[in-house]
Amino acid sequence: MTIDEMLSGALTVGIAGHVHPDGDCIGSSLALKNYIGAVRPDIKVTVWLEEFSNSFDFLKGAGSADHDMDIEQVCDLFFVVDCGDIERLGAAAKYFRTAKKTVCIDHHMTNGGFADVNIIQPKASSTCEMLYYLMDADKLDYATAECLYIGIAFDTGVFRHTNCSLRTMNAVGSLIEKGLDTEELLDRTFFRKTFAQNRVLGLVLERAKLTDDGQLIFGVLTQEDREACGVSIKDLDGIVDQLRVTEGVEAAVFIYETMQPGEYKVSMRGNQKLNVAAVAVSFGGGGHIKAAGCTIKGEPEDIIEKLRERFFDQLM
Ligand code: 5GP
Ligand code: MN
Repeated sequence: MTIDEMLSGALTVGIAGHVHPDGDCIGSSLALKNYIGAVRPDIKVTVWLEEFSNSFDFLKGAGSADHDMDIEQVCDLFFVVDCGDIERLGAAAKYFRTAKKTVCIDHHMTNGGFADVNIIQPKASSTCEMLYYLMDADKLDYATAECLYIGIAFDTGVFRHTNCSLRTMNAVGSLIEKGLDTEELLDRTFFRKTFAQNRVLGLVLERAKLTDDGQLIFGVLTQEDREACGVSIKDLDGIVDQLRVTEGVEAAVFIYETMQPGEYKVSMRGNQKLNVAAVAVSFGGGGHIKAAGCTIKGEPEDIIEKLRERFFDQLM
């Protein structure tokens, strides 16, 4: 079923993605909003997303995203994008629950399908790639193309990861043809860091620990560190990816304290040998084989030991 077909009969549409939205989540939510605005201007579309980095603010529709999620609305149709389970919808779950019809478009292999209609393609690089093929390319405008391009770029590590296929690049090629300023788009959203972000990366790298003959690397950041560096959680993108490229490392783990003291978000990246999704799932999280996450309460040192135990079988 195409997006155009899904929209049939709907007059109010809601869109939401996962908590702590990343490039693919923001890109897919805004792309869908912009596309619907272009093909069905009679539909009222609301995007519910938690606050995200202001490097995405220039994308069309970013300013209208509702971060508070306190308005009451029952949607004819509700799209969940890039979100593997209902808990990950956070406060936006209430719009999912009350909507007349729900559609989930996602590429997380841990997604069991929790909506009325589930389009789940674990082989797709990103939700934005999926959306590209669900949209009518002829009706896809510049603003939508920018959002899709950014989402694909983020989830492929700028077209480097093994999830980047011919199908991915065909979509990217067509998006570029819409006239995108690709270099500026990537610098603005992916590569450019504030001075504070570079400092926090430096802090994590300086304190990082190698374990298990250098096969695992752990980085930790507490709330206190974050405050000392003047950064918030949405400024931490890219840290785990830098840990991952340490020579000899099979999996990189970045553990950072959430807004709840004593609660840590675990962000993991694997190289060739390990399945980090399996470890994440064993702690109630999820993700992809090479990129996954979960949340664990406790002291960082204990969390590291617990994670090492779960990696143990895979490291043999
Ligand atoms: P990141 O490390 O960038 O936060 O997340 C890596 C991947 O794992 C993303 O695809 C993200 O959606 C997924 N992920 C991260 N944390 C969780 C979690 O707690 N639960 C689930 N289901 N997926 C997660
Ligand atoms: Mn994604």
